[in-house]
Amino acid sequence: METDACSIEPIVKTEGPALVSRSSRPGGTIVDVNGIRIGGREIVIMAGPCAVENEEQLSQSARSVRAGGASLLRGGAFKPRTSPYSFQGLGREGLEMLARARNETGMSVVTEVMDTRQVETVARYADMLQIGSRNMQNFPLLKEAGMSSKPILLKRGMMATIDEYLNAAEYILSQGNTQVVLCERGIRTFETSTRYTLDLNAIPILKQRTHLPVIVDPSHGTGIRSIVAPMAKASIAAGADGLLVEVHNRPDSALCDGSQSLFPEEFSKLMEDLRKIAHAVDRTIHVL
Ligand code: PEP
Ligand code: MN
Repeated sequence: METDACSIEPIVKTEGPALVSRSSRPGGTIVDVNGIRIGGREIVIMAGPCAVENEEQLSQSARSVRAGGASLLRGGAFKPRTSPYSFQGLGREGLEMLARARNETGMSVVTEVMDTRQVETVARYADMLQIGSRNMQNFPLLKEAGMSSKPILLKRGMMATIDEYLNAAEYILSQGNTQVVLCERGIRTFETSTRYTLDLNAIPILKQRTHLPVIVDPSHGTGIRSIVAPMAKASIAAGADGLLVEVHNRPDSALCDGSQSLFPEEFSKLMEDLRKIAHAVDRTIHVL
């Protein structure tokens, strides 16, 4: 937080850029993904593997998150990997597998788009387009997403301030697409015990400054399977409108992010706990 040199009073910013600012829609925005309403009283859970790896892996993971109570299926077909030699995703083949998993389970699908040239194709298969942390300030991509008719899941850049994040969302809204969900997914700090530092402050701050729904990704935010559930619960207690959780049918053999992916049984147990926490904050978990 900035402080004025001559004052001990912090300068608290209460507004975001115009279109995303809370004052422009004080009642809040509901983002509707095939009738699943994000940003209202119901908490929406999105879950699935980090990456689409093959038909069996996706289908089994999808069926188990559906059984556990997730409403949206996540899974990357285009993966932004740190190393160019790591598994890059199955591309269009992965999108087709996601579409089949949607037919099989009745879940809507959220998947990442990394490049302006992919937006049209990904939008043909997905119900919601994810823009990843590494692309939060890819301005051409944000503009293209703003011209899409699909809802957008915009993840916070790992080095982005709240102001930069809100400006990124503003890019999408400025092109006419108001269906944007924000997702806190951890930021880089000096701490090395976890993959990132999940910034739970961001939840109430964003809720104050913007009308857009806010969800949390405790999987990338921690990078450690055993602390995903506690941080997921804390996120709901702090006012998040939903969660994005990595769950894999066999995390030990995952091609991507296995060590932060929950086993299906762990996910089911987490969902049971989340129902209690949701109740405590006067909310309910959306059921498909
Ligand atoms: C993901 O959700 O698959 C992902 C790559 O996350 P992030 O962009 O937050 O790193
Ligand atoms: Mn991942």
